Amino acid sequence: MKTLASTGATSPLPPWQYTRARIAAITREAPGVQTYALAIDEPERDRLLASQPGQFNMVYLPGIGEAAISIASAPGEHPILHTVRAVGNVTNHLAGMTVDDELLLRGPYGNPWPLQELVGADLIIAAGGVGLASVRAAICQAVVNRQYFGRVAVLFGAKTPADLFYQADCEAWQAAGIDVEHIVDQPCDGWNGPTGFVHQLLADQPMTAATAIITCGPEAMMRALATAAFARGLPPDRFWLSMERNMHCAAGFCGLCQFGSEFVCKDGPVFRHDQIARFLEVHQL
Ligand SMILES: Cc1cc2nc3c(=O)[nH]c(=O)nc-3n(C[C@H](O)[C@H](O)[C@H](O)COP(=O)(O)OP(=O)(O)OC[C@H]3O[C@@H](n4cnc5c(N)ncnc54)[C@H](O)[C@@H]3O)c2cc1C
Repeated sequence: MKTLASTGATSPLPPWQYTRARIAAITREAPGVQTYALAIDEPERDRLLASQPGQFNMVYLPGIGEAAISIASAPGEHPILHTVRAVGNVTNHLAGMTVDDELLLRGPYGNPWPLQELVGADLIIAAGGVGLASVRAAICQAVVNRQYFGRVAVLFGAKTPADLFYQADCEAWQAAGIDVEHIVDQPCDGWNGPTGFVHQLLADQPMTAATAIITCGPEAMMRALATAAFARGLPPDRFWLSMERNMHCAAGFCGLCQFGSEFVCKDGPVFRHDQIARFLEVHQL
């Protein structure tokens, strides 16, 4: 099997050690969604925060709280990128911060996407809403290692055209030989593309023995995608998903993110479908 270029490593830092990060830039991606470019001014700490696609950091705003946020930047990409939808306590406060403000990070945590295992596969990377942030680094890795994969398609769904983001990335991925498809929930003025949900885009995707799917988005979206993929003959052990459950310690101690017998923080967030299928059938577990 080929060894993919530039995969990162899990930080050896203990979970109680934070790293100070400075907001170097903020990009407005969509209503309520911004990307924060976070610079780590200490080179040694920057090195320890090296991550693999699919991992996440805990973003801590002192006095406010902490939230798990996927690392959107690819291994080796600087500064660290976090794309965040403002939904609650931490993320709304973050949305009020400006360039040069500081916050604290710990991480990276969690299982990465199994890209090494998928060398030679036809990859379908499907995302809903801010779930695209979790797969962005995997797409970038597929671009850098394009020769090691077969067909690569990105399927991205959002509520409205205004909610589609990473447009410049999408154009660059397309130029690099990746098929990028967008879908929005409902027909609207100025949108000539497909309408509906992400799993409906699967109908036009070739499905071969080499196909593998990785996905992140609302759980209902991932469940519908799995049902559509399995109906087309994809075996469940070729389907990986990232579970975005609320978590607290991120290190397998507190149990807040427990999902059946698994902890999303340390056994996930990336799981292979057949390993968690029995829990996925239980809504709101
Ligand atoms: C591995 C992982 C990766 C993630 N990556 C990302 C990412 O890249 N980008 C991103 O935007 N998010 C991501 N998330 C989701 C993010 O961690 C959550 O949205 C997190 O809860 C946000 O923290 P918060 O303090 O802003 O929101 P919280 O205050 O925790 O609120 C979260 C939700 O709960 C609701 N809520 C809060 N309090 C109550 C209450 N008392 N009663 C009822 N409902 C309530 C809020 O309205 C909101 O919808 C990820 C989660 C995980 C587990």
